[in-house]
Amino acid sequence: MKILNPATHALIAEVSEDSASSVRAKLARARFAQPAWAALPLKKRLDTIRVFRTRITEMLETLARTLTLEVGKPIRQSRNEINGLLGRIDFFLAEARRILRAEKVYTDAKSKLEERISHEPLGVIANISAWNYPYFVGGNVFIPALIAGNAVLYKPSEYATLTGLHIAALLYEAGVPTDVFIPVVGGPAVGAALLRQPVDGVFFTGSYATGVKVGAAAGRRMAKVQLELGGKDPIYVCDDVDVKAAAAGIADGAFYNTGQSCCSVERIYVHQKIHDAFVNSFVAEVKGFKVGDPLDDSSYIGPLTRRPQLDVLRRQVADAKRKGATLLAGGGIIKGKGNWFEPTVFANVDHRMVLMKDESFGPIVGIQKVANDAEAIKLMNDTEYGLTAGVYTADEKRARRILAEVHSGSVYWNCCDRVSPRLPWSGVGHSGIGVTLGTAGIATFTRPKAWHMKAN
Ligand code: NAD
Repeated sequence: MKILNPATHALIAEVSEDSASSVRAKLARARFAQPAWAALPLKKRLDTIRVFRTRITEMLETLARTLTLEVGKPIRQSRNEINGLLGRIDFFLAEARRILRAEKVYTDAKSKLEERISHEPLGVIANISAWNYPYFVGGNVFIPALIAGNAVLYKPSEYATLTGLHIAALLYEAGVPTDVFIPVVGGPAVGAALLRQPVDGVFFTGSYATGVKVGAAAGRRMAKVQLELGGKDPIYVCDDVDVKAAAAGIADGAFYNTGQSCCSVERIYVHQKIHDAFVNSFVAEVKGFKVGDPLDDSSYIGPLTRRPQLDVLRRQVADAKRKGATLLAGGGIIKGKGNWFEPTVFANVDHRMVLMKDESFGPIVGIQKVANDAEAIKLMNDTEYGLTAGVYTADEKRARRILAEVHSGSVYWNCCDRVSPRLPWSGVGHSGIGVTLGTAGIATFTRPKAWHMKAN
């Protein structure tokens, strides 16, 4: 498999892909190795992950550079992602013991009955991952899964393979056995081959379209399935905000990582009273973003990771223009080598336009004027997705009232495009099923076993 730099289309590396038979052999190795890993005292597994954390900090610059080269993420954002992983590891290390401890839930001295729950690892799990935040979306799965005593077959996205191989190397250096964490290399066909193996759990991050296939394949096996899918995340700006500050925060939420975040702001609704002022500030903010070489520290917008996405954006732009939207910034492919698209802003959009309905996953956003809170809520909920949604207002009560009515896994007041290791990460509707992060995101890698114990 050829690995190309999305900024230049230069060949970075060639790696050999897995085949159906090598995937089968990897499952057999993991199956054999998992019980011994699970039998280690928890402290040993935690210590191993602690060493992995140290190795990440020691290798940070190399890891960031690889991530930037293969994904096109601006280098400062690559460093941010890897640093962000450290906080997530710290959360898992701090909470795992409490969540994995067996519990005595009932005792009856008279009948000498005791009821207990132990938290058993699932066994061997498949972790099929996305490329946009490979350290985050991968780490949300393989770190707690390993801590809980599972073996992991880790399929990084074909667009983040070198990062996946780096992760494997650092886990091995930290002491994770080579049969307990095994990378599976390749694209969709290799992912599908992995799903044909009798794994005990499938943890997938990616698009809704692929999630449907993954769910169907895993369903036949009765394996536990988690799907973390896409979003069309809305923000509503009320009439009582500091317009400049709100515009700056929301522009960052829409364009960070070149708009390729599952929780990127993809739709903006603005109260009519401040609409024009907000649009002006927002466009000024976006025009200030530096587009350029992702290895350059000063670049904020990089290339798109996947070339086909350029066409998706081009079609969204054409459709919005045809239906009467006003183009205020960007709007086209940047010619030359690499997958470059201008930071693009539309006003006067509405829900007939694909731009306001389908996930864009790129540097583009639409701004729609609304008359009041009720209209904003109705439009925010007019989507198949439900990953995150936010409101900007000076009034906390107003924010709580609005956010209570919004159907999404995470809600934000005066912030956006944010993930916390302490809070569960989940989606509603086409945004998926299951939870990572938070304490529920540790427990999910276990199966509760019920013990009915009666002394004679
Ligand atoms: P994708 O669906 O194209 O691919 C995801 C993974 O699935 C890749 O590893 C790919 O090789 C594999 N795959 C593809 N077809 C397969 C099949 N038939 N069987 C098994 N595996 C298969 O998604 P992507 O382009 O890597 O990621 C972008 C999408 O991920 C966006 O929709 C984004 O919103 C979503 N995402 C969601 C979250 C979240 O936490 N909810 C986080 C990051 C990304």
